[in-house]
Amino acid sequence: MANTVQKTFIVDCNVCKAKVAAIEKGFIEGNTFDDEAGEPYGQRVFLGTCPSCTTILVGESNQIHFEGFNAYEDSWSDIARVYPQPPKSFSSWRIPRVVTDSLNEADRSLQAGANIAACMMLGRALEALCRDILKPADNELSPSKKPSKKLMLGEGIKRLRDDKVIDERLYDWSQQLQAFRNLAAHPEDISISREDASDLQIFVNAIVEYVYDLADRYDEFKTRAEKRGKQKK
Ligand SMILES: [Zn+2]
Repeated sequence: MANTVQKTFIVDCNVCKAKVAAIEKGFIEGNTFDDEAGEPYGQRVFLGTCPSCTTILVGESNQIHFEGFNAYEDSWSDIARVYPQPPKSFSSWRIPRVVTDSLNEADRSLQAGANIAACMMLGRALEALCRDILKPADNELSPSKKPSKKLMLGEGIKRLRDDKVIDERLYDWSQQLQAFRNLAAHPEDISISREDASDLQIFVNAIVEYVYDLADRYDEFKTRAEKRGKQKK
């Protein structure tokens, strides 16, 4: 029998909580030209199993450079796990891009074992949420109002609680995140465990979901109920 080399790909195992060389069982590559964006698009999806715990792992990589288009040779991003436990996705159109970008970056940092960077990104996401939610409405802009651009995380989360955008529990989580974010921001010799960073990620995701997705859902629910009430009259 021919001596075949076992193909592997490097991906984060959510059970082992570490980068592993997953045993490749399947591979798909797709290439198209995105007419709207005017640029090519490449995607690879890897299917495999963790060599130590045998969990099924699916990873995705996107093409960064394209030979003959913007580079001398093709290059691909690191493989990010998309199954199990894919990065959290949200439904509200109100969520600012800077919030979702920061959350995605935090997820990638976590998968890469960069826990301090992940905490920085989670803090950035929450700070951006504060600035978005607490920005003064156009009709209440006055010189006495502080410009929301300068709003810092600590003040922001207090105001979210005072304005009843978040409750006491979400406020506690936010304070924890702020403490870790501050720790991460200073060039001191610290370490943050993956467990702590993962928990903070879950808390921030929950806050974003609560403030945007669930609020939207409830508004739609109430609108339907009001409509029904009017129809009965
Ligand atoms: Zn594993």
